[in-house]
Amino acid sequence: MAAADLNSLKERVAADVTARAGRLHEVAADIHARPELLYEERFAADLLASELEAAGLDVERGAYGLDTAFAARPSHRDTLAAGPTVAILCEYDALPGVGHACGHNLIAAAGLGAGLAAASVVAEAGGRLVILGTPAEEGGGGKVFMLDRGAFDEVDVAMMVHPAGLDLTEPDVIAIATWRVEYHGVGAHAAAFPERGRNALDAAVLGYNAVAALRQHIEGRERIHGVFLKAGDKPNIVPDHTVAEWYVRSPTMDSLQRLKERVLACLEAGATAAGCRMTWEPTCPEYAELHSNRPLLDRYKANSDALGRPVAEPTVARRVVCSTDMGNVSRRVPSIHPLVAVPPPEVSLHTAEFARWATSEEAERAVVDGARALAMTAVDVWCGDGVAEDIRAAFDPAP
Ligand SMILES: [Zn+2]
Ligand SMILES: [Zn+2]
Repeated sequence: MAAADLNSLKERVAADVTARAGRLHEVAADIHARPELLYEERFAADLLASELEAAGLDVERGAYGLDTAFAARPSHRDTLAAGPTVAILCEYDALPGVGHACGHNLIAAAGLGAGLAAASVVAEAGGRLVILGTPAEEGGGGKVFMLDRGAFDEVDVAMMVHPAGLDLTEPDVIAIATWRVEYHGVGAHAAAFPERGRNALDAAVLGYNAVAALRQHIEGRERIHGVFLKAGDKPNIVPDHTVAEWYVRSPTMDSLQRLKERVLACLEAGATAAGCRMTWEPTCPEYAELHSNRPLLDRYKANSDALGRPVAEPTVARRVVCSTDMGNVSRRVPSIHPLVAVPPPEVSLHTAEFARWATSEEAERAVVDGARALAMTAVDVWCGDGVAEDIRAAFDPAP
């Protein structure tokens, strides 16, 4: 497509988002006011689905066997050209205690705005489009189940934006495994018959301390963190059952498998020392590292820069280490997951302070800018000379 025509399509999608800004802000605020935990996001999923239906899209609610997932497609999709299919993703789950402290209400509103704007030109642009509602990013692996059930089989490009303390092309997304770990001991009266007991809290504490010793000898980008969910009932009862939750993170799925073995050895050592038995199970599918598709990311960055929101590249001093199920998507489909600034850099994700910022004027600006940059990038994928080919050539799917 001629450069002038491409630019005029991009101007139209940007203007479409601007025209919807008031409604997008209301959607972000409404989801913020009703924080819902993983797989319970009924209000948010229903609100987004209703907005998409009202704009004339075909919406499949409860898509891919997940009650709070959805898939929205242009109603005239059978008549669309067979150009690349762009997926725009909406997250909308919150965190216990701190609500929308990860700002997924803003991901939802930005995805909605981008999706509606992209839908308004998709026929002319000769592409295809799906807007996916992806539940339970915070520890439920919604996108992993959707991947397994075919949500991305027809998708050529997947993209979303995530709020943070800075505008960055990508977070430092590392792989993660999450476990529930239980220690089974023998209860006893702690004063009368301590010799009859086997203390499951000792097992948990010794396992915790063994991990603390391990931390000195792991790679700099590896992370291990645990909490005790059940630690005993009363000091004079030898605890016969304790429960911990552990997160183990490492730069890649490969290195994660090696670190998992070492952490499990530490946790088992606690059980052995205390004469207890340990059992464990994953609480969620493992999340993979993110492979941002460079040509796609370059288009997003150019579009955001042109809108007056320059996007920086990460450096050692300027990075956000995290894990997301978008990593798993990025191993199967060319993907991007750029960060869009809301609070100042010192405000950490997953805090009450971040949750307050997620309903601010800065948040509203982030929604509009993120939506415009995503929609403009969709236009690039559909119509930019050689863009779709470059994206395909740069993609190296994981085994
Ligand atoms: Zn989060
Ligand atoms: Zn998040």
